This record gives sequence, C-alpha cells and structure tokens, in this order.
Amino acid sequence: MKNIKEIRSDFPILNKEVYGKPLVYFDNGATTQKPQSVIDSVNEVLTSYNSNIHRGVHYLSDMSSEAYENARQKVASFINAGKKEEVIFTSGTTGSINTIAFSYGERYIKPGDEIIISYLEHHANIVPWQMLCERKGAVLKVIPMNENGGIIIEEYHKLLSSRTKLVSVTQVSNSLGTILPVSEIIRAAHSMNIPVLVDGAQGIQHGIVDVGAMDCDFYTFSGHKVYGPTGIGILYGKEKWLSELPPYQGGGDMVDKVTFEKTTYNQLPFKFEAGTMNYPGAIGLAAALDYVTAIGRENISLREKELLQYATEKMSAIDGLKIYGTSANKIPTISFLLKGIHQYDTGMILDKMGIAVRTGTHCAQPVMDYFGIDGTVRASVCFYNTSEEIDSLVAGIEKVKSMFA
Ligand code: PMP
Repeated sequence: MKNIKEIRSDFPILNKEVYGKPLVYFDNGATTQKPQSVIDSVNEVLTSYNSNIHRGVHYLSDMSSEAYENARQKVASFINAGKKEEVIFTSGTTGSINTIAFSYGERYIKPGDEIIISYLEHHANIVPWQMLCERKGAVLKVIPMNENGGIIIEEYHKLLSSRTKLVSVTQVSNSLGTILPVSEIIRAAHSMNIPVLVDGAQGIQHGIVDVGAMDCDFYTFSGHKVYGPTGIGILYGKEKWLSELPPYQGGGDMVDKVTFEKTTYNQLPFKFEAGTMNYPGAIGLAAALDYVTAIGRENISLREKELLQYATEKMSAIDGLKIYGTSANKIPTISFLLKGIHQYDTGMILDKMGIAVRTGTHCAQPVMDYFGIDGTVRASVCFYNTSEEIDSLVAGIEKVKSMFA
C-alpha cells in the first residue's frame, strides 16, 4: 500500500493553505476530495474525445460511448452487481432515490400501503417518500433510534406487516456515523417478500458495499462521496425490478420507437437514462473506483478504524465535549458539541485555523430533534487524513474553549 505521504500527494487540494494555514479537511461526509487520476480522466474526456454518447456513428462518439459503458461495467464490478444492465447512471443519491420513489411508487403503491424508513435518514431518504405518500395516500413508518445513535431493531421487526410495500434505509448515518444492520433489515423484509432500498451515500466512501452479498433490491450512491466528480450517481436495481418499473423521466435515448400515438421504451439500463447523461462524470467516477481499488478497500477500512479510534480517544478526553453517535459500529465521523458554545461559533473559529468541519443539522433534522439540539459540529474523517490533523483539531477545539471561557 502507498504510504500516507504518497496518498496525500495524489490529492492536489490537500496541499492547499487556507488563511495561511495548512488545510485540514474534515468534511468528507459532505464531499470528498479528488485524486489527480480523477481530475485527469475528466480532463481527458473534455480535451480529447468529448462527444455525446449513444448518438453518432463518428469516431469521437464511439470513443465516449465506449468509455461510458466501460464505466458502467466498472461500477457493476465494484459493487458486485450481477450485470451491468442493473447499473443506472443518475445525478446522485438524491436523483436515484427520487427515481425509485416515483417509479416504484407509480407501479406498486396504493392508499393505505406502508413504507418503512429509519429515524437516521438523510432528508434525501425521507422527503421523496413523504411526497409519494401524499400522492398515493400511503403511510410512512419510522424505525425509532436510541441514545447511541443506532436504530431499535426490535421495533423494525414489529413495523413489518402485510401493508409494508418497501423498506428504504441508509447503510450509514451521515449525521452520526452509525452503520446500520442492513443485512438483518433486508433478510427480515425479504422473508415477507418486501423489497429494500439501501442508501449507500456514506457507505460507499468507506468501501462497504457488496450488493450481491447484501441482496438489497436497490442501492444508491453519489460519485462525489467516493472521490469522484459531482453530478453523477448510481442507482443499482435488481433486473427483475428495473425491467418491471416504468421509466421516471421521458426524453431522448430512453425510447425505442416514438410516434404521436404511442412510444415504446428502450431496454435496460437506457430506459432510466433520459436525455444527455453526464458521461464525463461517469468516466471520472470509474477512475475514482479504480483509485479506491488500487489503494485497497481493506487498507482503507483498517486505516479509517485506526483514525476513528484515535479521534474518539482524543476527543472524548476533552472536558465539556459531548460526542453524538457512540455506536460500536461506526465510520470515522465524529459529531460533537462543546458545552455552552454554539456549533456555528465552533465551526467558524476552527475554519480560521484552516480546519474544515461541517456544522448544522447535516440534512438530518429528525436526528437533531431526537437529541433536542439544533445541530452539531461534524468532523468526518477518511483515509487520507492523519493523526496529526486530528491533533490539530483537538488543539483547535481547546482554543475555541479558551476563547469562550
Ligand atoms: N443520503 C446520505 C446518507 C447522504 O449522506 C447524502 C449526502 N450528504 C445523501 C443521501 C444525498 O446525496 P447527494 O446530495 O449527493 O444526492
């Protein structure tokens, strides 16, 4: 494996200074930085073979179409999908979840049906289902959470019934870092023939994805959270579902034959890819997955476990600092508050020291309501971060405290 110096030199932005201080980037939960290979691959598309995909017979169009379809195959292999036709390119996790909420909802949801989500969801896995429930007169059920930031799994089992038509849960909480027991959730739902969507926006970054082993029916993620470009994402779906579901959007490329009387749709995966797709993004995403594979998912996971342990130990020792999300099974995300100091003040002072953390509700307002707070400071760490950077954060927090003393 590359050493940490080599890894960091792969990411040009990590050498940056802000306010004359070395950048410490702890906002990986919101978006990750990009290695040079991803930047180069997008650059190469735009400078060497840019052309719309699946459209022309000319040389450049062939090249971009082939690279785009190769990217699809790469994603399929990375997540262990059965076939590449089960991989749909979208604009991101939000786009993917909305696709299923609309498409599955149109076909299968009737008044009185129930959809189960968890308390820990990002708004992207709450609001599309609420909109669907409003459209169809269906009911949203929520798996409750506990003080550690986990879900109460026994309550999930009680919620499942013949009225349940879909379960949609996050693999990892973005606000607290908790890893949810998705395999158990899927097994229980499948025993009652209920499909499950897993929101992998946070899981993918930490390499924990194997849709074959998980046996989920749908899996969604965003390129930008896994060291790839923004504006590109993935909707994985089992072929048996995707082939049955109606398309989400209509337009070019998703059609077979169009007349004013009737239109027939293209085969998978194109049925769900209307209009000009973000092919530079898709090709950049494939480069990102190549990068992650070259570093090694096991290596990433080991390194992140060490960083989590180090950060938790150091930060727990700070007087007046409370960590939200204390589950034993979590990614290196530390959500915290300092006693008597507003999260925005903490975040703004840390920023002046060159330390980028996220503040606010993290698009997970119900989680904040559960704890009776209006937000946290979130340091989301990933494999390119270092223990020295965690030391800088700890020193920064002490400085914040001293300023408010
Ligand atoms: N779900 C989770 C768990 C997330 O962390 C995020 C992004 N913070 C999303 C969904 C939405 O992702 P995007 O904004 O890339 O569509």
